[in-house]
Order: sequence, then C-alpha cells, then structure tokens
Amino acid sequence: MNSESSKPTSRPDLIEIIMNRGLRVTGPRRLIVEHLNSKDTGFTADEIRSGLPAVSRATVFRTLKLLLDADVICRVATVNGVPRYALSRGEHHHHTVCIRCDKVGEFKASMIERLLDTLNPEIPGQIVGHNIEFHIICSDCINV
Ligand SMILES: [Zn+2]
Ligand SMILES: [Zn+2]
Ligand SMILES: [Zn+2]
Repeated sequence: MNSESSKPTSRPDLIEIIMNRGLRVTGPRRLIVEHLNSKDTGFTADEIRSGLPAVSRATVFRTLKLLLDADVICRVATVNGVPRYALSRGEHHHHTVCIRCDKVGEFKASMIERLLDTLNPEIPGQIVGHNIEFHIICSDCINV
C-alpha cells in the first residue's frame, strides 16, 4: 500500500510549513497561519483582522503578502470580488470556491496544464503562470 490517497489527513505542522518556505517564525506569522487553519472556508482580510485583534492592520497585510509570496497561503478570487485567503499545500494547484458557504478546495487536474499548453500559440507572449478558480455549489450545499 503506497497510494496517494492513503496520505494522512491530520493537519500539517504549521510552524514547519513556515520554516520550510524559508521564513522566520514570528508571532504574527504563526497567529495568522493558525487562524487560517481553523476553518476550511478561508478568510477575507477583514475577517483575519477582526479575528486577530492583537495584530495590527498593517502587520496583517504585510504578513499576508509575505506568506503569499512564500506559497504558504493562497489568495482565492470569489464571485463577490473579495478574495479569500487559505492555507496552501505548496504544490501547483487550482481552486474551487463554494458560492454558498465559501468553502475553498484545492484540486490539481493535470489536464488543465496540457490544455494551457495547447493555448500557448493563441497568446501574444509566454504564459508564466495562471490562477484558476471554479465557482461551485459544493456537495454539502447542493443537498440542502
Ligand atoms: Zn490553494
Ligand atoms: Zn458549500
Ligand atoms: Zn494549473
């Protein structure tokens, strides 16, 4: 038994994730990462600020940018235009976001990468990255 699907579902060691991305672990970084880990819907920047009153607004925004640049977290576009921040697994992936409950999911779908390769000739330049979000009604919400 060595299948991908038998990966443990336990939460990753958050401190280790920060360090593995080459960042020093500071109080605000740890607080924000732990906060993001507490719900699978991700958070808007405002929700992070109100959830962490001890961290200043400027520090929240600076830390979010830093964690984004280091691939510790993802910024997910939503239908209402307010991005949500969620923990990242680090490897390249795409997102689903539920339009009803805001739950953020990750998926890979390597077919998307092949599809984008075939689009390359249509694009006036070289594709160097992409973000893909599917706006869904998740399986929990669809049955309500
Ligand atoms: Zn992500
Ligand atoms: Zn949902
Ligand atoms: Zn992709």
